[in-house]
Amino acid sequence: MTAKDCIFCQIAQGKMDAKKVYEDEHVLAFEDISPQAPIHLLVIPKKHISSLLELQPEDEKLVAHLLLSMKKIARQFNLEEKGFRVVNNIGEDGGQTVFHIHFHLLGGRNLTWPPG
Ligand code: AMP
Ligand code: ZN
Repeated sequence: MTAKDCIFCQIAQGKMDAKKVYEDEHVLAFEDISPQAPIHLLVIPKKHISSLLELQPEDEKLVAHLLLSMKKIARQFNLEEKGFRVVNNIGEDGGQTVFHIHFHLLGGRNLTWPPG
């Protein structure tokens, strides 16, 4: 899939609707359309990167920025005290269905382990 057909690029470019909850120059977070927890957000870089496997050395700052954004978003949703989970699915066995790297941020209930 190219960036042109990518639904998360379309969301990042404002060409497709999403319930945005956080945005800065490089990062966007929005509600998952099929929530698996009371709070289920997707945190993406605005730059198209298809998966963790496609990350390049020059993306190092961006990845750190994504993680620090998730800390801010967790605070925004009052998740710090109870905790939450960050998930990144990669490829077929990982359950990846959208090939624009994204981190699921899940919270608001007690999450079981291991995942299914
Ligand atoms: P993954 O299976 O890790 O690739 O996760 C893709 C996630 O994107 C799933 O949890 C979907 O529910 C979610 N999703 C797919 N399309 C949309 C959309 N248009 N807006 C918000 N979330 C979406
Ligand atoms: Zn994309």
